[in-house]
Amino acid sequence: MSTARKLIDDCFVHDSGRMRHDDVLALLADRLAPVAGVETVPVIEAAGRIAASDVTAPIHVPRSDNAAVDGFAFSHADYRERGGRLVPAARIAAGTLPDERLPAGACARIFTGAPMPEGADTVVMEEDCLVETDGTILIPEGLKAGANRRLAGEDFRPGDPVLRAGEPLRPQDLAALAATGHDEVAVRARLRIAILSTGDEIIEPGRPAHRAQVYDSNRPMLLSLATAPATTVTDLGHVGDDADELRRTIARAAGNHDLIVTSGGASRGAEDHMLDVLDRLGRRHLWQIAVKPGRPMMFGQIGDTVLIGLPGNPVAVRVCFALYARAVIGHLAGAAFSRPTGYPLPAGFEIARKKTGRREFLRGWVASDPETGKLVAHKFPRDGSGLVSGLQAATGLIELDEETSTVARGDAVRFIPFAEMALPTGT
Ligand code: AMP
Ligand code: MG
Repeated sequence: MSTARKLIDDCFVHDSGRMRHDDVLALLADRLAPVAGVETVPVIEAAGRIAASDVTAPIHVPRSDNAAVDGFAFSHADYRERGGRLVPAARIAAGTLPDERLPAGACARIFTGAPMPEGADTVVMEEDCLVETDGTILIPEGLKAGANRRLAGEDFRPGDPVLRAGEPLRPQDLAALAATGHDEVAVRARLRIAILSTGDEIIEPGRPAHRAQVYDSNRPMLLSLATAPATTVTDLGHVGDDADELRRTIARAAGNHDLIVTSGGASRGAEDHMLDVLDRLGRRHLWQIAVKPGRPMMFGQIGDTVLIGLPGNPVAVRVCFALYARAVIGHLAGAAFSRPTGYPLPAGFEIARKKTGRREFLRGWVASDPETGKLVAHKFPRDGSGLVSGLQAATGLIELDEETSTVARGDAVRFIPFAEMALPTGT
C-alpha cells in the first residue's frame, strides 16, 4: 500500500535568483511525498521505524477492573453497613479469574493486578487492616468507594488510537502496541540512501596526502547523519571531478536508491559537474539558495530518485543536512515534513555587520554568560565554512534571518539544537 503520489516532475525554479530559506522548505514540502513502501515487522524489532498506518486498540486495557495494591477487595456499601468488619471468603492472585460473586458481608484477599470479583468495587491495603482472632478483617474508616481499584479500559478502549501513521516508533509506542495485544506493526520500508563524495582533491583518510589534497571528511559525517532505523545507507565512495564518471555513478545509484546525497562540485565552476549531471540525467527543482552556508545546494530528481547536491565545505554539508536533507529523508521515509522550532536566547556575541537578504546559520552552543550568569547563545568565534573544529564546538545552530543586519549582545536570537535536527530514532 505504498503512497500513490510520487514526486511532481516539473521545474519552476531556474538558476537565476536565489531562493529564500522559507521558500526552500515550502518547495521541498510541496514536491516530496513518502516513497518508502510498507512492510510488517515484529513489534520487538520496530523501534525507530515509521508507522505506516494508524493503529487502534482492539480491546480494553486493562481488560477488567483490577486491584492496584495487595489487600482486600469488598463492596463499599457493605463496608459502610457493617462498620468495616468483613469476612474473607476468597483469594484472587494476579493472573487468575475470580470464580464467584462475593457474598454479602465478605471480602476477598486480592493481589496487585488481579481482577476484581463481581460484587466488589473497592480495595484496602493489606497493611491498613487488622485481622481479628476469628479471622474477621477490620477495615479502617474513611475509604472512598473505588479506592485502589483500576478500571477496565482506563488506559485504552476499543477504537482508541495507539499509533498514528507517520510517527516514528518510540519505546513507549512499542509498549502501547504490546499492551493492546499487537505482536506486529506495519511500518515504512527503510529509505534507501546513497552517499557520494566528489572532487579531484579529495582522498581517503589513511593514505599519505600531498599538500594539494584534502581528506574526505564529508562522507563519514553524511553516512553517520543518514543512518537511522528508518533508513539503509550505501557508501558510494568518492569520484573525482569527471563528468562522465559522475554521471555513470549517479545513474547507477538512482536505479536502486530513493535518495542520493552528494557533496562537492555543486557550483558553476569549470570543475563543478553536479549541476550538469543532474540536468542531463533528471530534473532540477532548486539550485542556489539565499542561505549561508550552503548557497549552491541543489535539489532535483532522477526518475523517482531524489538527488540532493550539497556544497563541498564540511560546515555547509552539516548545516544543509540539518536544515534540509533531514526533513527530506524523514518525509520520503514516511514521516511528516518537519521543521525544527528551536527557542529564543539572548546573544552572547555581537555582529557589527551582516548582509541582509540572506539567512545565516552560525555554529553555536548554550552556556551562561560570565558577567550576568544568564544562559546565552554563544557563536563559534571564527568564520570559515571549512572549519570542522567549529562544527565540533557547536551543539546547534544560531539562526539570523534575512532582515537582520547587526546583532548586539543580549538581542534575542533563535537557537536550534542539532538534536532537534536529527533523523527520527525513536528515542
Ligand atoms: P566544492 O563545492 O567542490 O567547490 O568544494 C568546496 C570546498 O569543500 C573545497 O575546499 C573542497 O576541497 C572542500 N571539500 C569538498 N568535498 C570535501 C570532502 N568530501 N571532505 C572535505 N572537504 C571537502
Ligand atoms: Mg570541487
